[in-house]
Amino acid sequence: MIDPHVHLRDWDQCDEETVEHGLRCAALAGFDEVFDMPNTSPPIVDETALERRLELADHVLKKVHDSTGVSMNYRLYIGLVADPLQIENACRLYLKYRDHVAGLKMFASQSTGNMGIVTEPMQRMVYDVLAKKGYQGLLAVHCEKQELFADEAPHSLARPSFSETASVLDQLKFSYDAGFSGILHVCHISTKGALELVRKAKNDRRKVTCGATGHHSLFNLDHKPYLKMNPPLRQEEDRQAVMEALKDGTVDWVESDHAPHSLSRIRSGASGIPGFANSLRLFGCLKTQVSYQRLLSLFQMRICEVEGISKGREQFDRIYNSDMEELAARLDCEYPLLKD
Ligand SMILES: [Zn+2]
Repeated sequence: MIDPHVHLRDWDQCDEETVEHGLRCAALAGFDEVFDMPNTSPPIVDETALERRLELADHVLKKVHDSTGVSMNYRLYIGLVADPLQIENACRLYLKYRDHVAGLKMFASQSTGNMGIVTEPMQRMVYDVLAKKGYQGLLAVHCEKQELFADEAPHSLARPSFSETASVLDQLKFSYDAGFSGILHVCHISTKGALELVRKAKNDRRKVTCGATGHHSLFNLDHKPYLKMNPPLRQEEDRQAVMEALKDGTVDWVESDHAPHSLSRIRSGASGIPGFANSLRLFGCLKTQVSYQRLLSLFQMRICEVEGISKGREQFDRIYNSDMEELAARLDCEYPLLKD
């Protein structure tokens, strides 16, 4: 199985998690491939950081294989910043390292790492540069519109659902206006309105995909008010919409948005939670409600199609035949700070 959205930390954030620990837990959860996000410290926005990260992963993959017996594959996203030259360079690196790079990532609001490209003119600039360079790959976007955030507690109200829906509308519009020819991927979609926009865009034959997480499909803000992440947990209506979209094919794949933090970072208000256990809980929940083929598509096949990857089904079948709660509980033990 593939988890196409993880934050494996390491480097200056070794106290949060190391790549080795993250990959070992991913292997335990049945994932034999992950796509790592670039808001690391330092961030993956140039060739030096990219090379350094791939070297680290290469070294760790051998250790993970020795300890778990799983042959993992690792890819990463290159982060974009509000600089046309950096974006052009990212397009070049995407082609040069094609086997190791899953795509480009834009944060349309500030989140962990402060890599946000938040204003409308800057976001339009990104699509203009990508269109000019003829970029054909995946552009994964963290969609929240920062100007609609409120200075309010709790977290779910500070980053309201309409800010995500508005940002998805922006990305669809800006990419269309620029003649962007790549695939626009909406990360961790969590609102009914955003799903309706993606559904319509797909009907209009736009090259659009979206991913959903275990936490947004299983929990609403009443169930788990202490779980903090970006985008935040939503109302029950939104949660149900995500679950429906996983079943009806609007959601292309499940992505964990695995993002553990140290206790000190949690205390200082960091957003992000470990994700593999919730992906497994979602797997278990969907298993009784959708076909084997649909589940295979959500956890492996669709992302393989989009990325041009071929993969066997051994890991998927192993998880399919496992006790999901038992596996998820084992993963929870790896992240003790999650325990309330
Ligand atoms: Zn993320």
